[in-house]
Amino acid sequence: MLHYARPIARLIDELNKLPGIGPKTAQRLAYHLVTGPKEDARSLAEAIVEASERTGYCSVCCTITDVDPCRLCQDSSRDRSLLCVVEEPKDILVLERTREYKGLYHVLHGAISPMDGVGPDDLKIRELLARLASGTVREVILATDPNIEGEATAMYLARLLKPTGVRVTRMAHGMPVGSDLEYVDEVTLTKALEGRREL
Ligand SMILES: [Zn+2]
Repeated sequence: MLHYARPIARLIDELNKLPGIGPKTAQRLAYHLVTGPKEDARSLAEAIVEASERTGYCSVCCTITDVDPCRLCQDSSRDRSLLCVVEEPKDILVLERTREYKGLYHVLHGAISPMDGVGPDDLKIRELLARLASGTVREVILATDPNIEGEATAMYLARLLKPTGVRVTRMAHGMPVGSDLEYVDEVTLTKALEGRREL
C-alpha cells in the first residue's frame, strides 16, 4: 500500500471523483500539479472556484449561466414561439453549432430513468410548464437523446403537453438510435431538425 503525503492523497481523492478519471489518472494528474509551476496550480484552483461560484441556473431556461437570464434568453433576435427541450446545457452548444435553429431552449437537467431513480419531479418540467403558461410558445421541439431514457422522457412530455394545445414535435429523422445528442454530427442534426415529426 502506497503512502501519499496527506495533501496529495486528498488531491487524488478529489480528482478521482471527476467523471472519467480513474485512480491512475488521478494520481498522474496530482503529481503533475504538485511538481509543476505553483502559479499554474493556483490558477486552476481559482478557475474551478470561480466557475462553480459565479454560475447558476438561468431563471428562464434553466441552463448554466453567469448572467440571469442567460445571453440566449436575452437575445431579442431569437424566435420566442419556438422552444427546444434538451437534457443538458451542453446540448444547447451542439444544436447552436448547426446554425439552423433560431428559437429558445429549455434544459431538463437529465432524463426520466426509473433504473437510476430519476422521475419527472427530478427534472425541470415544472419550470417548462410555467414557461408555456405565458402562451408565447407555439411549438415545443423535444430534442432529448435518441436513447431509451430520452425517448421515454419525450413520450412523457408529449402526453403532458397535449392539453396545452401547443404543437409538440420530436426531431428523429436519421438520428442514430441509442446515442447521445453530443455525438450526432451537424448535418444529421440539421436534417433531424428539418424533418421533425408531430407527436
Ligand atoms: Zn436562459
